[in-house]
This record gives sequence, C-alpha cells and structure tokens, in this order.
Amino acid sequence: MFSHPDFDDHETVIFSRDEACGLRAIVAVHSTALGPGFGGCRMFPYEDEDAALTDVLRLSRGMTYKAAICELPLGGGKSVIIGDPKRDKTPALLAAMGRLVAGLNGAYIIADDVGTSLDDLAVMRRETAYTAAATAAARQPLAVTAYGVLQALESATAAVLGRTGLAGLAVAVQGLGNVGMPLCGYLAARGAKLTVSDIDPGRVAAARRDFGAKAVAVDAIYDEAVEVFAPCAFGAILNDDSIPRLRARIVCGGANNQLRSPAHDARLAARGIVYVPDYLANAGGVIDYHQERIDDRPAAVLGAVDRIGAITADVLARAAASGKTPLTLTDAAVRQRLAAARPAPPPN
Ligand code: NAD
Repeated sequence: MFSHPDFDDHETVIFSRDEACGLRAIVAVHSTALGPGFGGCRMFPYEDEDAALTDVLRLSRGMTYKAAICELPLGGGKSVIIGDPKRDKTPALLAAMGRLVAGLNGAYIIADDVGTSLDDLAVMRRETAYTAAATAAARQPLAVTAYGVLQALESATAAVLGRTGLAGLAVAVQGLGNVGMPLCGYLAARGAKLTVSDIDPGRVAAARRDFGAKAVAVDAIYDEAVEVFAPCAFGAILNDDSIPRLRARIVCGGANNQLRSPAHDARLAARGIVYVPDYLANAGGVIDYHQERIDDRPAAVLGAVDRIGAITADVLARAAASGKTPLTLTDAAVRQRLAAARPAPPPN
C-alpha cells in the first residue's frame, strides 16, 4: 500500500467486504487537515482491485486539492464500490456502505458520483449522517460542475484572449455526459460555436439538435481549430499524442486528472497553451456541498460556484506575471494551505 505509485500520504484507506450483501468497497481519506474529507462514491465494475485502488487514491487526493484551492473548510476523500450499479446495487449493499461511512465518525462525507445517485444517498442516510444532499433544496438537480467550468472558461478567455463574453468563441467539448452536455447548454446560450465528440451517437445527435453543435469523430476532436478545448469525458487525455495536435489556446474542462503525467503541464505551456488546472475548473461539486449547509437555495449555490471564476482570473494573472504555469501556482497554494493547517511538530 505505502509504495503504491498513487499513495500520497493518504490519512486512511479502508478496505471493506460484506459477504452477505456483496459489498466490496474502498474508502480513501486523503486529508482532513482543512476539514472532513468530502467526496463521491463511485460504483463501477473495475476490472481488478488495483484499478479500484488507483482510482480511489487519485480521486481522493483530487478532492483535497479542489477544496483547498477554493479555500473551503473541507478535506478530500472518495470511495469506490467494485460492482455493476445496474446489477449489483441493492438497498442492503447501500446500507452496508452507509455503515462503513458511519464507522469513520465524520472523517469522510459521502456524495453521489458515477454509478450512485441522490436516491442512493438517501438509503445510506438511514445509517449515517455524513452524506451530502441532506435537504430537499440540496437535492434539486443543478449542473454545478458544468457551471463552475463555465466560470473558469470565461475568466480564461478574458485573461488569455482579451475577450469579454463568449459570443463567437470556438469551443471543442469532448464528452457529452453530466458535465459536458450542460456545459454545451451554457456555452450555446452565450453564443459560443461548439464542436463536440462522444462515443454515444444519441448524445452527439442531441448536441447537434439542441445547440447547433458540429460533430466530429471521437479521435478528431484534438485537431479542431478552436480557441478552447474542454475535456469532459475521462482522464489522461493530455498526453504525448494529443498535446502536439491541439490547436486551442486554452484547455479548460470538467474531467478529472486530465494530465497523463505532471510533465504534460510543461509540454502544454511550451506550446503556448494555457491549462486551467482541472481540480480548479471542476470544483463545483465540493463548493455545492459547502454552500448547501449555509444556504441551499439554487441561486445561492450557483452564486457560490462563481468563486471558481475569480480564482481562475487571479491564478492566470499571477501565471502571466511570473512565467509559471497556473498548475504550478495552484499546487503550491494547496500545499501551503495544507502545511499551515497541520500542527507544528513538537520541538526535539
Ligand atoms: P458521464 O459518464 O456522465 O459522461 C462522460 C461522457 O463521455 C459520456 O457521454 C461518454 O459517452 C463520453 N465518452 C466516453 N468515452 C469518450 C471518448 N473516447 N470520446 C468522447 N466522449 C467519450 O460523466 P460525467 O459525470 O459527465 O464526468 C465526466 C468527467 O468529469 C469525468 O472525468 C469525471 O470524473 C469528471 N467530473 C465529473 C463531475 C460531476 O459532477 N459529474 C464532477 C467533477 C469531475
């Protein structure tokens, strides 16, 4: 465990198996230095346990970074359930997951994610108070992640392209799911010209019909002559193959862990492409959780997500002034906040 390539001094990693209901889950709490570890529960038929462990270690770390860069009093956590949500998800399994979270006594707060829903959280809530979306208002469907990406994208186009407004801006959106599709909606409403790709032809057809988007083949999206590339499908898509092909000036999207390796941040910069750190652009969900405990009305939640735009503007201005990449600056800010929150070691 401690030598796993994605182990990053995670505070707690728990493996749980409940034979009676078929639960096989891993909970990773990356950091509680700034507050309880918040993050979604992903249910997915991972091909093996190592794939599940890698996912939970990376994603929980990402949650710490999202919360810290947005200056929230929250840490980072994540959980994965190994299984097919369509086949294996039962009330008994969700209850067992709820008991697992209850046993962590608030070190981890569970939210919905790929393969789990707000209804699933309601089942878990019978076992634990440490869930997101506990109030009726907080259960209203809001595209907070897409809205946050929009805020980051607007700030980035202002900073890099000197634009006010998005009318006529050419944006390529990769992936038309829970993040990509509403992002297309926001962009189209502001007059942006969309190019889209998805492996699901039905979603592509919907984006063409609803937003006048131009559709391209899945692999052709990297070659499009656009100003912004918005990855909203999966991680590691900024790599040796894609980066030389990109024609965008800005990369800003909702996918987690977009860089295949840290070195790819420098490769983007060397090509003059400004990369908005993924964990900043896609932090809408954690801001939503924080805000729902203060004022859970939709306007208040979306208003809170606006901070992603202000933080992006600040980071890009500092990047331009210093010659450092935005990611170098956000990583440093997160590390500094975490270090400042930890009690000083006792004197020798
Ligand atoms: P989703 O499963 O709803 O959508 C993903 C979409 O990508 C699907 O439409 C899928 O068909 C498409 N896709 C798959 N392979 C593709 C390919 N090769 N080319 C183009 N499209 C492809 O997932 P989502 O919730 O929209 O999440 C997308 C990304 O954003 C993930 O990396 C996720 O971790 C991240 N993210 C999501 C949220 C959220 O609130 N949903 C929050 C933060 C980060």
